[in-house]
Amino acid sequence: MRLGLYGGTFDPIHSGHCHLIQQLLERGIVDELVVVPVGNPWMKKTEPQASGHDRLRMVELAVEGLPSDIRARVRASDTEIHRAGETYTIDTVLEIKKARPEADVVLIMGSDAFSSIGKWHRSAELLSLVEVFVVAREGVGFDIDALTISSTMAREKIAAHEDVSNELPESVWSYIQERNLYASK
Ligand code: NAP
Repeated sequence: MRLGLYGGTFDPIHSGHCHLIQQLLERGIVDELVVVPVGNPWMKKTEPQASGHDRLRMVELAVEGLPSDIRARVRASDTEIHRAGETYTIDTVLEIKKARPEADVVLIMGSDAFSSIGKWHRSAELLSLVEVFVVAREGVGFDIDALTISSTMAREKIAAHEDVSNELPESVWSYIQERNLYASK
């Protein structure tokens, strides 16, 4: 059983992330997937704009909006947003391996995240515990026809009152409007 671990800031989760989730399952790259919004991304220069609670809720809404055969194999996890201190992927991997000892953990990431993996906490140990699956962005990694969408682009468009209906799942966009998230940069 190949269990994908897809971590991200997801500030907010967007249609590019959802496209990737679908491709991973449709192409049989993983059998199941856990999507994990990060709690305290210590290597980033700036903190996420939305709270952990809001980012998790948006991930849950995006998962609920996936086609039912895909949705049945995807789970949003609150483990990192509830963990105190800096968030380390190794801790999440160890938790998953304890809960699901039968599973081979596949760490899913884009090429930007992969380029810094050598600097991650206990990176050698992390890399000994997982298979890494790098998704192509700008030509590097496995090609899933990634959509050219980023969370930064979505936040900037929202702050500029531009239409983001192509960038975000409908339910996520409704949530952002209800909570008035990303109204300013
Ligand atoms: P993010 O911007 O929220 O995006 C999540 C992931 O989706 C990234 O791997 C990103 O790839 C990919 N992605 C973004 N847009 C996409 C698109 N249109 N199509 C396909 N893929 C897309 O993620 P992030 O803030 O960089 O966080 C990445 C993860 O790394 C987090 O889980 C964080 O905890 C982890 N991390 C861990 C440590 C540690 O343990 N010490 C240190 C640093 C980071 P790109 O990377 O190419 O944008």
